[in-house]
Amino acid sequence: MAFRNIQIDIDDAVFQAALNRATTEGKAIGEIVVRCLTQYGASAAAVQPTVRAPAPVTTYTVQRGDTLGRIAQKFYGDPHKYPLIQEANNIVDAGRIWVGQPLTIPPLPGTATPATAPEPAPRPTSALDPEPAEPEAISPDTAYIETARCTTCNECTQINNKMFKYDDNKQAYIADPDAGTYRQLVEAAESCQVSIIHPGKPRNKAEPNLDELIERAEPFN
Ligand code: SF4
Repeated sequence: MAFRNIQIDIDDAVFQAALNRATTEGKAIGEIVVRCLTQYGASAAAVQPTVRAPAPVTTYTVQRGDTLGRIAQKFYGDPHKYPLIQEANNIVDAGRIWVGQPLTIPPLPGTATPATAPEPAPRPTSALDPEPAEPEAISPDTAYIETARCTTCNECTQINNKMFKYDDNKQAYIADPDAGTYRQLVEAAESCQVSIIHPGKPRNKAEPNLDELIERAEPFN
């Protein structure tokens, strides 16, 4: 076995303990220190580092009728865990997901993988739907506003106050997409300072200059 010659510093308490033991055992203090270091090195080498495999993630594509709460129910069995999915996908407004949107479903904290989504259960057909009223996934063809981010700047309501209205929080929503033209929807989207108006696709295929308007709407959809 090869030996190395090193110099070590130990504090007073350790020195005193080593000295006491050396005195008790009738050995040189250096021998006691070397023995302690040898024992420590052997036990450290015996400890194998534990490498945890990264937890697998699941992906899911939003279906018509989905909400984050319903997706959380599918994967976690608890709709109230939807913030896990919202955070993993950087979704600002939990009420705004769209059909076809790919989502990452992270594992529940403390588990290796999320529960597998069960077959979708048929929705109750009764008028007394027990599910909480949440906004459903929005088709990319549908005009909508990310209402929760509205700054009440009045730009859209000045363009058409029948199409755009304020809710009780004085935040805008699209009250009636047929109360005006697609051009007004596109102009409102362009005027909105926080870019939260999504014009969707034109509902009146006979409106003039639709090709140009669809092109202008594209960055906001
Ligand atoms: S233009 Fe945008 S920020 Fe202004 S009121 Fe309309 S939605 Fe809100």
